[in-house]
Amino acid sequence: MLIIGIFLLLLLALAYGAWHPRATLSGPIMSRGEPGSVYLTFDDGPGPDTESVVSVLREEGVKATFFLVGTQAAKHPEIVELLVKEGHAIGTHSWSHWLLLTRNEEEIVRGKEAVEIITGQEVTLFRPPYGFRTWKTHRVAAREGLVVVTWSVFPRDYRRSSEDIISHVCARLHDGAIIDLHDGPYERGATIASLPAIISCAREQGYAFGVLGAPVASRCVEMDQQCCLEGTCEFKRTVCACGEQAVFRGCDEGCRPIVVCEPLDESRSCS
Ligand SMILES: [Zn+2]
Repeated sequence: MLIIGIFLLLLLALAYGAWHPRATLSGPIMSRGEPGSVYLTFDDGPGPDTESVVSVLREEGVKATFFLVGTQAAKHPEIVELLVKEGHAIGTHSWSHWLLLTRNEEEIVRGKEAVEIITGQEVTLFRPPYGFRTWKTHRVAAREGLVVVTWSVFPRDYRRSSEDIISHVCARLHDGAIIDLHDGPYERGATIASLPAIISCAREQGYAFGVLGAPVASRCVEMDQQCCLEGTCEFKRTVCACGEQAVFRGCDEGCRPIVVCEPLDESRSCS
């Protein structure tokens, strides 16, 4: 009986560590930002309503943080570029929105790369799908230079009316509040409709809107034998002499591909 009790308690502790947005049992998390600010964050995009979300934010003069799903980003690179152009912060929300009980390595690395190849900027923020994380999730995230971000206000906007979203959020705003909303993968009419009222009640309470993470300096990224900087990729075609092959050797200081001609491993007949 005692053993079953201890086992159940252990299971409860593990579930708490994996699911609770403020639990640090499985590793460090960011669930709050700076005092004086609140943070709008959007998950599961880019989706059909992301551009509408961006329009509202532009009208209101607010920057937000978008946690993108890799498969979605790969389908809509133009929306990812729009987010960068508008000055929003971008994080990764895994490659395919997989529950990270398994496949941590693939989901985290591929999700991060999918965004970096489009933006040419290093991704440093990671929100695990469903907020679920294990020790393994934290280990892979730390190795990849990712801060694990959860939330402190979670209005379940994907299944509520705009009135309910507004009253939930406005009643729970606090210093450094990280508000979790959704801009994908489906239409998010209620979320969009709630934004102006959420923004005005935060401003009435004296809060500014911030973006998460330190501003990331633009960085040259090597991808598929190309050098990418701020969304622009350069591929260098090199013609080598007979009996030689072109080999990609990374990027130079100006983020241009270095390609050298080297002898072929096996001699081929030249014509
Ligand atoms: Zn999600």
